[in-house]
Amino acid sequence: MLRFGGFVFAALALLLSNQAAAQSASPRCLPESDYAARLTAALESLHITQVQAVSDEINQRCAAARTQGMLVLLDAATLFDFIHRRTGVEAAHQAFSRLLQQDFSQLSWPQQVACYHLMALYSLHTGEYKQALSISHILTSELLPGALDANEDIAAISLAIADSHYEIEFYQSVRELLLPLLGHSAPHIRVRAASLLWHVPQTQRQLDDVLAVLNDYRTLPDTLVRLHATEALIRQAIEENEQAKAQALFEDAYQLADTLNARAVLIRLYLLETKTRSSTPVVGQLLAFSSQQLSIKEQLPVLELDIEQATAEQNWQQAAVKLQQAVNLNTEIARNNALAREYASFQLVSQARELEQARQQSRLQALAAAQQNQQRVIYLLALISAILALLVLTLLFMKKRKAAVHFEKLANTDGLTQVLNRRAIQQFAEQVATRSQQLNQPFVVALADIDHFKSINDTYGHDAGDSVLTEFARRTNALIRQQDRLGRWGGEEWLIVMTDTGLDAISGLFKRMQEEIRSIDAGEHHLTVTFSMGAVAGDGGQSIEALVQAADDLLYQAKHSGRNRLCKAND
Ligand code: GH3
Ligand code: MG
Ligand code: MG
Repeated sequence: MLRFGGFVFAALALLLSNQAAAQSASPRCLPESDYAARLTAALESLHITQVQAVSDEINQRCAAARTQGMLVLLDAATLFDFIHRRTGVEAAHQAFSRLLQQDFSQLSWPQQVACYHLMALYSLHTGEYKQALSISHILTSELLPGALDANEDIAAISLAIADSHYEIEFYQSVRELLLPLLGHSAPHIRVRAASLLWHVPQTQRQLDDVLAVLNDYRTLPDTLVRLHATEALIRQAIEENEQAKAQALFEDAYQLADTLNARAVLIRLYLLETKTRSSTPVVGQLLAFSSQQLSIKEQLPVLELDIEQATAEQNWQQAAVKLQQAVNLNTEIARNNALAREYASFQLVSQARELEQARQQSRLQALAAAQQNQQRVIYLLALISAILALLVLTLLFMKKRKAAVHFEKLANTDGLTQVLNRRAIQQFAEQVATRSQQLNQPFVVALADIDHFKSINDTYGHDAGDSVLTEFARRTNALIRQQDRLGRWGGEEWLIVMTDTGLDAISGLFKRMQEEIRSIDAGEHHLTVTFSMGAVAGDGGQSIEALVQAADDLLYQAKHSGRNRLCKAND
């Protein structure tokens, strides 16, 4: 009897568990907003496993009902994964390109901030600093005012902008953005701010505050926030020469990085080890990463290791190749940095003012909140002043906001040669013309065209042609002054705009270009390259179209009088 009872019970249990299994076998696809809320929270707290879990869930459950919004979420998750785990190079590239074309206006405010932040991080990874700044500018000019209107917490925006400014070494701005966050109520925000602030030069008192926040890292769950804090503390211990402490933290960090598969941190830890110890097995690990997996700034120290290794093995050829790569990379980083700084200086003035106003306002709000418990009257007064400040600020913002910054800004560069594209150089020329008229300073517009370029393509192939174009751009760019610009006007035609100078300057530039361009290597071919040029001076009194047309006529003249020469005229 007992046995029979047990059998019935077991059968019942089996039936029940089967039912449960049947239910969990076909989980429903939840509404987009559910996933969006979970993903945004996971992105903000850098909860790498949660981010993965949400995107897996969307992929598994929503195959049939995948909305546009869900695709954006998946792309954001892909970018996040690449930035922190360095996997899926190609997928990340595609996700970034799709996001660039997305209209984010349908997304909720925190989602927009998260997407822009990830896009900026991706641009920093690839070295497109200017693009990263354009994106953080969208955060300040488009999203910040809305946040203030809706009384949103601006911490996420501050963190996003700070990442870009840190990368181009605008430390003053990073401090201004992040120091106020050290007192934020959410631990993950406090610690994120402290982890980045640690890397920024600051006063002893500020450093003490930062360390106080970082030292609470153990209370955090196993997320990247915790890992980043550990990393900063390792660096602190190394600076203080506390070997044992550094070692213990290193172990903590490696363990967590392994659990999370967080290769971005691993790469930085390896690099740190190569600096602090003379020989270590991590060199091999570092050299195993592909260049795309490394951010542009990580590539340099890894190349140095590569060179050291090749030198030790007396592989001089390899060492020379890597050395050349390192030199090129260094130039590229410096150049991107300079471009970004120049671009940022246009925007920083207004950005700084907007942020200062935003901070003042949040201070007012904090004041109002703190006094609420103490005195109702003061609370009311503070609230009224906060509302008044809000109104005044909103009016100020609306007045100050210029034409919206669109993604067109991101599309100013020619894809092949990385110099300004036709629209951008034309725009630059127009700005120069306007300023030239105001300040009564001449400027030069020159049109250059590579000679017999078609025969280079025909003889050595299109790739060789492309190399010539890239080299022409790179070398010319290195010759022109900082205030001048080179743009790709068409196939193998280039527009050079020289500011604040007359036609005398162009002859010198032409000669230097001739020397630089004369010999170009494309694969195993050594090519002799010449070009012709037409140049005119302007004073702002003529349209850019007319100046370019005049330069084109002179270029035609140069071509027909034998090529490889400059024809110039005061127009
Ligand atoms: P000229 O000395 O009179 O300027 O002769 P040319 O051969 O340089 O001029 P032409 O205008 O006949 O040929 C220009 C060629 O440039 C034709 C076109 O196929 C090629 N071209 C245009 N854009 C690109 C590009 O992006 N890459 C490569 N490899 N070739 C290009
Ligand atoms: Mg030509
Ligand atoms: Mg041509």
